[in-house]
Amino acid sequence: MKTKECPGCAMDVDERAEVCPICKYEFPQQSKSLQAVIWLFILLMLFWVFF
Ligand SMILES: [Zn+2]
Repeated sequence: MKTKECPGCAMDVDERAEVCPICKYEFPQQSKSLQAVIWLFILLMLFWVFF
């Protein structure tokens, strides 16, 4: 299991964890699906502007 260090309590937690189980620190991470939706939206806007 991959871990990452929590900046809130300096403990190693699951890399996939969105919230630290020890101190409830919320890790700032964007899901890949959300990024894909944003990119699709940008591409659609470009398409709409140029055509
Ligand atoms: Zn923590």
